[in-house]
Amino acid sequence: MADTGYSLKGKRVFVAGHRGMVGSAVCRRLAGEGCEVLTAGRDVMDLRNQASVTDWFGREKPDAVFLAAAKVGGILANDTAPADFLYDNLMIEANVIKASFDTGVEKLMFLGSSCIYPKLAEQPMREDALLTGPLEPTNEWYAIAKIAGIKLCQAYRKQHGADFISAMPTNLYGTGDNYDLRTSHVLPALLRKTLEARDSGQKQLEVWGSGTPLREFLHADDLADALVFLMQNYSDYDHVNVGSGEEISIGDLAATIVKEAGFEGALVFDATKPDGTPRKLMDSSKLHALGWRAKIGMAEGLRRTIKEYEESR
Ligand code: GDP
Repeated sequence: MADTGYSLKGKRVFVAGHRGMVGSAVCRRLAGEGCEVLTAGRDVMDLRNQASVTDWFGREKPDAVFLAAAKVGGILANDTAPADFLYDNLMIEANVIKASFDTGVEKLMFLGSSCIYPKLAEQPMREDALLTGPLEPTNEWYAIAKIAGIKLCQAYRKQHGADFISAMPTNLYGTGDNYDLRTSHVLPALLRKTLEARDSGQKQLEVWGSGTPLREFLHADDLADALVFLMQNYSDYDHVNVGSGEEISIGDLAATIVKEAGFEGALVFDATKPDGTPRKLMDSSKLHALGWRAKIGMAEGLRRTIKEYEESR
């Protein structure tokens, strides 16, 4: 790996997706780096519209880009809106990556997801498991778009020497998460459902699927720290996994949240909802070898998230 030692100091750094959980965490993390953080709301630039993105980049000329904008959602949203997940994500990444190249962006970080790996990939999943088998059907549309994004960064590097890198985070949670039950991921969904069940005196809490799937969770603030670290220290063709190594079954996650939030009813598993992929644990040894590790443990992160959510309700 080439050690670029890329400095963000004094740079104009565009964070695409600054209103989302990841983008907002990156903005907070960049506050201490001595750079100028640029953001653009949907009213200023529609990332799915090429003309809008080309105009904005031509005007603002950022030096570096964190591409944290994406259409994201939990298992049901992915399963029921495949066209939106594929189209919106392809357009966002194609527009931003090309405009970055055309306007001379020095370094770009593209963000994907652990769902890029085959459904039955060997666990923990290494970076080289990409494209070795069929995807999990509930989120293959999103996964295909994210794989295209990785490949587009690699293509610009190969054809033009562009310093465009990619990071693949595991399942995320934290400040500013999506708590809309129709589109959210499991952790915020269970958190919201638990607090509502507790406060309204319900006897049961519904958990989708069998409760047996295993997921690894990483706090968004840890991810933001890893992304800034990679931006400064990694400059190569292959994508890099960003995980915590902390894995838990959905049933145990529900039990932990229920206990932490003080809900005393029973867990009921709804088998009509999909389980998704059985296990999604990342091998983050490449990132560890570069010198970065997650710092926010699940117990601490969960307590913090419950507190923040309760305060924001
Ligand atoms: P995934 O990691 O892409 O499968 O996305 P999710 O975070 O949406 O779901 C992870 C697992 O949690 C799946 O097995 C879901 O069926 C399960 N799950 C249990 N209860 C819920 C819930 O209320 N909402 C969501 N989104 N998932 C749930």
